[in-house]
Amino acid sequence: MSGELLSYAEAAAIVSSFVRGLSRSRLAVERVGLSNSTGRVLAEPIVADQDQPAFARSTRDGFACRAAEASAHEFLTIAGATHAGEAPAGPLPAGAVWEIMTGAPVPAGADAVVMIEHVEREGERVTLLPKRSIAVGDNVVAQGTQARQGDALLSAGAEIGAAQIALAATCGRAELTVYKRPRVAILTTGDELVSVEQETGPGQIRNSNAPMLAVLVAAGGGEPKVLPTAADTAEALDAALRDAMDADLLLISGGVSAGKFDLVEPALARLGASFHFTGVRIQPGKPLVFGEVPRGAASSLPFFGLPGNPISSAATFLLFGAPVLAGLAGAKGIGPRFVAAQLSRATDRKAKPGLTRFLPGICDFNPAGGGLPQVATVPWHGSGDLPAFARSNCFVVVPEDTSSLDAGTMVKILML
Ligand code: AMP
Ligand code: MG
Repeated sequence: MSGELLSYAEAAAIVSSFVRGLSRSRLAVERVGLSNSTGRVLAEPIVADQDQPAFARSTRDGFACRAAEASAHEFLTIAGATHAGEAPAGPLPAGAVWEIMTGAPVPAGADAVVMIEHVEREGERVTLLPKRSIAVGDNVVAQGTQARQGDALLSAGAEIGAAQIALAATCGRAELTVYKRPRVAILTTGDELVSVEQETGPGQIRNSNAPMLAVLVAAGGGEPKVLPTAADTAEALDAALRDAMDADLLLISGGVSAGKFDLVEPALARLGASFHFTGVRIQPGKPLVFGEVPRGAASSLPFFGLPGNPISSAATFLLFGAPVLAGLAGAKGIGPRFVAAQLSRATDRKAKPGLTRFLPGICDFNPAGGGLPQVATVPWHGSGDLPAFARSNCFVVVPEDTSSLDAGTMVKILML
């Protein structure tokens, strides 16, 4: 860490402009089955193979009619019936209506559908109830209203979720071309770390960042590759970094604060790294480092040096690493997805001036009595407090130079 530290907004802007500079055309693609495509990013447009709807469809059970005739409130003869799935019928004879079900094609000649609840029926004749009216187009979605055959409905860069899968299915797409998941190397550093399977000796702790970052990476659309933990020596780091160079993104945990054994920045510098920033005025996560290591003529490996404390690692990955990962995965959306919630309790007053804080919080999305999502910060003992972190479901954003926020304040939160 050196010089004037950037504000959160400045650091976030640097990450955004890095992501905007990524070229999607250079990303590798693959074909996946529709049902395996959730969470992936489209690498091709989805084009309408037909008009949507492909025929004028009724949105109600009722009677297709000519609105002008039905508006006379006289009995009209039921000339036939069309169920959903049947071919379009018609033409509708003059002075007649056509019984029709929701989703069925409206017969040629009809220009509206009267709801079944709005007619009086006498045998094979119906009339519009006196208090009801009908106008051209009522309860009919005309052919092609939603899309025309050949329209590009989604473009490369769209994230694929339930709605996009439904649209692709409607367009007859059983397979999609998506970007390959970026390979994310996760390198934890620290002489004190042992793996989850091991017993801890005096002064040792279990490596919790490796499995945590692996799930954050997977959830963010990446393919995590956890590397063996590197010891706090220059030689161990140099060797570990050499093994990480074929990844698309490198996350290094630990070793970036100003301590004597914080050797990560010098090791990256030995590889010719350029540093976009070293340190951000945030809490937790102030020592965060972002940069790129050159690799061959045309490419570079972006990396984050995440502070080793578990909550710092999680926060800085979500705030800065995840947007870069999303960009490398081909997604268009830039930046973390904050949502609004209302504070149910005032935040503490322990603010350090000039730091944007991201405090572990619990958001209740369905508060008793309804109303807005309510969020409260969780009491915690700093950025190593995993029990407190595990009780939380979000980070509450406390803006720079705000000592405390009152109950009732609307705040931004970042979901975990
Ligand atoms: P560092 O950023 O390396 O100075 O580490 C800061 C704190 O985070 C120290 O207390 C470390 O023991 C802890 N820490 C570092 N790496 C990990 C890890 N992979 N899992 C859990 N705690 C860690
Ligand atoms: Mg360390």
